[in-house]
Amino acid sequence: MTDEVVCYERAGAVATVTMNRPRYRNAQNSAMTYALDAAFERAVNDDEVSVIVLAGAGEHFSAGHDIGTPGRDVDVSFDRKAVLWWDHVDKSGGDQRFARESEVYLGMCRRWREIPKPMIAMVQGACIAGGLMLAWVCDLIVAADDAFFADPVVRMGIPGVEYFAHPWVLGPRAAKEVLFTGDRFSAQRAYEWGMVNRVVPRDELQPTVDALAERIAQMPRFGLALAKKAVNQSEDQMGMRAGMDSVFGLHHLAHAHNAEVSKDSLAGLDAKSMRGASEPR
Ligand code: ZN
Repeated sequence: MTDEVVCYERAGAVATVTMNRPRYRNAQNSAMTYALDAAFERAVNDDEVSVIVLAGAGEHFSAGHDIGTPGRDVDVSFDRKAVLWWDHVDKSGGDQRFARESEVYLGMCRRWREIPKPMIAMVQGACIAGGLMLAWVCDLIVAADDAFFADPVVRMGIPGVEYFAHPWVLGPRAAKEVLFTGDRFSAQRAYEWGMVNRVVPRDELQPTVDALAERIAQMPRFGLALAKKAVNQSEDQMGMRAGMDSVFGLHHLAHAHNAEVSKDSLAGLDAKSMRGASEPR
């Protein structure tokens, strides 16, 4: 194990980028976001790499955004990459939140969705809220049968995570169920809804991803890039990009409302209370 929050490894034509905060169920702080970005950039620029796998070290893929570990770094400046906007750190209120979330959440996810190489999310254990965002920006999702998913942020009065792909990746009916209940859904359910490509026993997760990545890697690089762009453009023609922009406004209305009437923009909820709420009943 290393102290790096993200590990990078290449085997043949496949680069694996691994979130590495297993102690915190790979909660994403900004240090991790920018380390992921650097790793993806490295994979894009390496002509030997045809396919990128995104993985999470340990028992869980990702518990979501870091809203409470000792490594939480919301007040730290990084060299911004996703959007050209001012730094959030010395701002306040909605000005600060909009700047930060445009960059590290919505902006980064959109940037990664446009990576011109196929990306496979390899998901085990928890894939919650901000974890969903990372899985969704990948082109394919392969899940272990112990994987579980949830977007419980309606409990904070917020209509879903920042990268609002829900209606496109789940379908409108399932999207509403997921949001209205905040409950966990299984890998099998995700498969039935079309959100996940394969569900396999946990010990077959890595070999399945390896085989799929190697299969895809035999296709021509430029053909893959164009095929990816073709599907992404079509999704955007189906309204995904414009929909996300409009929902980002509702998302920030909710943060602002929380800040106005409650303790903070997250309605006073923290990682512990959110985790407790999404335990199976
Ligand atoms: Zn937010």
